[in-house]
Amino acid sequence: MEIQKEIIEKLLKNPPKDPFQLAEFKRKISQEYKIPSLKNIELLKAYHKFLKEKRLKSFDFLEKLLRTRPIRSLSGVVNVTVLTKPYPCPGKCIFCPKEKGIPKSYLSGEPAVERAKALKYHPYFQVKKRIENLKEQGHLTEKIDLRIVGGTFSFYPKKYQIWFIGECFKACNNSKGEISSLEDLKKQQKKNEKSAHRIVSLSIETRPDFINIKEAKWLRELGVTFVELGVQSIYDDVLKLNFRGHSVKETILATKILKDAGFKVLYQMMPNLLGSDLKKDEKMFEELFKNPSFQPDYLKIYPCALLKETPLYEEYLKGNYHPYSDSVLIELLKKIKQKIPYYVRIQRIVRDIPSQKIIKGGAKISNLRQIIKREMEKEKLICKCIRCREIRENYDPKEKIFLFRQDYFASEGKEIFLSFENKERNKILSFLRLRIPSFFFNRQEKNFYDYFKVLKGAGIIREVKTFGREVAIGKKEFSPQHQGLGKKLIKKAEKICKKEFKLKKIAVISGVGAREYFRKLGYRLRDTFMIKKL
Ligand code: SF4
Ligand SMILES: [Zn+2]
Repeated sequence: MEIQKEIIEKLLKNPPKDPFQLAEFKRKISQEYKIPSLKNIELLKAYHKFLKEKRLKSFDFLEKLLRTRPIRSLSGVVNVTVLTKPYPCPGKCIFCPKEKGIPKSYLSGEPAVERAKALKYHPYFQVKKRIENLKEQGHLTEKIDLRIVGGTFSFYPKKYQIWFIGECFKACNNSKGEISSLEDLKKQQKKNEKSAHRIVSLSIETRPDFINIKEAKWLRELGVTFVELGVQSIYDDVLKLNFRGHSVKETILATKILKDAGFKVLYQMMPNLLGSDLKKDEKMFEELFKNPSFQPDYLKIYPCALLKETPLYEEYLKGNYHPYSDSVLIELLKKIKQKIPYYVRIQRIVRDIPSQKIIKGGAKISNLRQIIKREMEKEKLICKCIRCREIRENYDPKEKIFLFRQDYFASEGKEIFLSFENKERNKILSFLRLRIPSFFFNRQEKNFYDYFKVLKGAGIIREVKTFGREVAIGKKEFSPQHQGLGKKLIKKAEKICKKEFKLKKIAVISGVGAREYFRKLGYRLRDTFMIKKL
């Protein structure tokens, strides 16, 4: 440990200015001390230890540099992804791989899959392990975005769903005890409101035809706030050819129900499907944001990957299917990215499938996203999606920020996207999604309010988020977080509901771990939503 202290003192005396200088420093040290090159994580651990013992003064910049993957906590929240156990899926999609011992649509060799497999897909251990790793890498783990992936979540038995999510909460709460009923899960949720690792967002993935009002209500009971829909295509002929087992009608209805119930909606889209072509794919992404029936908040673009374990491979052998080449796919994705509105976030481009498993085509390129980014920068093309504009580490408190508002119609309701951004709109610090539900405009409530009585007459905040490095709950730091931007957006949303729409109530679909935040703003928990009278 004394050597480490010496090294850290050297580091502090002449601090490196960027990762390259840090690497150079480590190289010199390993020569000087004749030791293997030190990992950032080891240095960070030692730094924390000496700091705790008050043998060193804190130095924020160094800490920032030593964080192995700073990108991970830049959105203010850390992601924890967990996989459900292998289980059949009702779908027969021809592009979907089936591998023994692996959840449908996933493949061995994918990093997330391997991690989950080693822990026998146990949710408790998956969450625990991931939090430990994140901590070791120097991240704060107070706010967690829990993502449950693996096949069609809604198809798993309810008992398993309860147990799985309950165990995730239990791991965050550091609790013991069995999870065998909804009450057990609710107890863990309550505990999580004040736990050291609060789940502020919870997502699942499912098929559009599994969403109905009852299911949406059920997802709320489980604590879900975000739904990833396997949409893939919005053309019935393509859906049919690929044996999706549902049509676009189901996607439209699912989107509407989920949004009216406050959920954030992500579409997983798949260009290069059998039966589609370049023109059609390009048009599809235009349609997503021109047609109010779609308007997803988030997108995952997974170009179809040609895999041996699929019926699509047979179509390929027969000459019926042609994967796009590298350059064709790159050009298509560049075009798509230029059409994304300000209020959408592209969560991901391409899956983590090991490239040797993909027979042919542009989907083999694993760093596709970076390549596209580089080319677009060179050609001065811009993607306006939220992800490309998140403030990250270049927060300058002196730069002026402005409040933007964009209204658009979606699923028969109105969406109001409020955001704090710089003048050029290439840096976004904070945003809020407010929905005036479809029933406000068309009064066709059917039985929606039998399930969601608490939402009757309310505007709904579906999301509020502030970027910048994660700041511990209750601590002040030099970052857009905790500068009150979120609060200002909430006030603005309340005003819009009251003044413009004469609504008497506002609801928030809040992650369990964010309930405390809303309580402080005068909201009360009612039937899984945080509600405030206006
Ligand atoms: S619904 Fe999803 S998991 Fe099921 S077969 Fe289709 S792609 Fe695979
Ligand atoms: Zn983007």
